Amino acid sequence: MDLSVVIPCYNEEETVDALLKRVDAACKDARVKTYEIICINDGSTDKTLSKLKALTKKFKALIVLDLAKNYGQQMALTAGLEHSKGKHVLLLDADLQDPPELLSEMLKRAKAGIDVVYGQRRRRAGETWVKLATSRLFYRALSYLSDVPIPENVGDFRLISRRVVERFLDMPERHRYVRGMISWIGFEQEAILYDRDPRFAGETKYTFMGLAAFAIDAITSFSIKPLRLCLPFAFLGALLAMGLGLYAFFVYFTVGSIPGWPSLACLICFFSSLQLICIGLIGEYIGRIYMQVKDRPLYFVREVITAKPQKSK
Ligand code: UDP
Ligand code: MG
Repeated sequence: MDLSVVIPCYNEEETVDALLKRVDAACKDARVKTYEIICINDGSTDKTLSKLKALTKKFKALIVLDLAKNYGQQMALTAGLEHSKGKHVLLLDADLQDPPELLSEMLKRAKAGIDVVYGQRRRRAGETWVKLATSRLFYRALSYLSDVPIPENVGDFRLISRRVVERFLDMPERHRYVRGMISWIGFEQEAILYDRDPRFAGETKYTFMGLAAFAIDAITSFSIKPLRLCLPFAFLGALLAMGLGLYAFFVYFTVGSIPGWPSLACLICFFSSLQLICIGLIGEYIGRIYMQVKDRPLYFVREVITAKPQKSK
């Protein structure tokens, strides 16, 4: 198998027809001899699954992986990668924001020995300024916090080699930030610039809270720097205590006594909240350790549907 295309689909009934048409055409244009298109149905609640099933009749290369429930895009990608057999694997969103036509250019670079050819957006059409601003802020924070270079304006859209897929599947972590993990793996990686289109149809599948959880996953998976924040907090407290002590000393000898309670109340609140923040941070990491040591399977597959019936793994 020369190529696998892995596409997570969550409530994408409006896009799947156009998607398959364009992806299949892109594979043919790139003169790929043998390829498979793996669409992962990530617990959609609309007609995505039945539409995909019907499409297997038309597109022989299509394999539909029906997950037991909604696990999120990153897990759906993982499931797709685990089932892929191609020498190269293209990761693609279902909404056609990233052009599958870039495949032939990506394959050219892959054949020249580049393991990871990732799409980097020159322009992002059809996205609100709030999303662009928060995304910018997030990448700043992430690059400050993490030791792995995670390039800005890069999604999961990329072509990766078999050896990278295998290294990726060796990583057993539950909280998966796929683009970060691939960046961490190393080998030869290169960007390819492109313009990102607006969604073909439908709405973004990420709520604000979903994006926030995604950002927290990204940061905690690649950095323990937040834990070290406790230390500067402690220094801050010590400095403040010293300053206040000196101030009290001075006032005692010039004016006399100082009335206490408002300043006391403020100080108590300030430091108890700092302490709670630190405990929260520690808790976040401990929770992740707990989830990880349970060592549950990452996801369950309900059914694998292909043009020819096949047993599920
Ligand atoms: N997706 C998924 N499971 C989810 C959420 C999203 O498989 O729980 C898929 C979705 O169908 C799409 C891709 O992940 O193919 C990216 O989602 P979306 O386009 O909504 O994200 P955005 O581009 O707005 O960040
Ligand atoms: Mg999208």
